Amino acid sequence: MSDCVFCCIVAGTAPARIVYSDDHVVAFLDIRPVRPGHTLVITREHITDLAGVSTAVGARLFDAARMVGAALRTSHVAADGVNVLINDGRAAFQTVFHTHIHVIPRHNGDRITLAKGLLVRRDPNADATAQSIRAVIPSD
Ligand code: 5GP
Ligand code: ZN
Repeated sequence: MSDCVFCCIVAGTAPARIVYSDDHVVAFLDIRPVRPGHTLVITREHITDLAGVSTAVGARLFDAARMVGAALRTSHVAADGVNVLINDGRAAFQTVFHTHIHVIPRHNGDRITLAKGLLVRRDPNADATAQSIRAVIPSD
C-alpha cells in the first residue's frame, strides 16, 4: 500500500533504522521511542490487523520480536527486561494500520509507565542504538 508508511519502510522508500529483516518481517527503531531501543517488528505484507495475520506469519513475527527482545538485553541498550505489546485497533491506540509488535526495553528502576513514556519518545543516539542491536541479532 503506497500510502502506508510501514509499507514504504519495507519497500525502502521511507527511511528507517532497520535492525533485522528476513523474507517475512522487518524490525526497525520506532521514530518516537518510549525508551532508546524501542523497536517495531512488522510483517513485510500489508496486513492491517492482528486477525489478518496467518499462523505461519504470526509465528515469524513473534519469533523476530523474541530475537529483538534478546538483543535489547545483550546490546548496548542493556535492557533488564522488555515490554512486548500490540495495539490492535483504534480503540487500543493503534495509529499505524499495518500490524506491528512493539518491543520496548526496560531498565530496573526506570520508573516509566507506558502511558507517561509515550510522552518522552526521543533517542539522541538512535544510529548507535540501532547498530548495537543489529550487531547482536543472528543473521538468517
Ligand atoms: P501504534 O500506536 O500504531 O501501536 O504504534 C505506531 C508506532 O509507529 C508509534 O510508536 C510511532 O512512533 C511509530 N511510527 C509512526 N510513523 C513512523 C515512521 O515513519 N517511522 C518509524 N520508525 N516509526 C513510526
Ligand atoms: Zn503497510
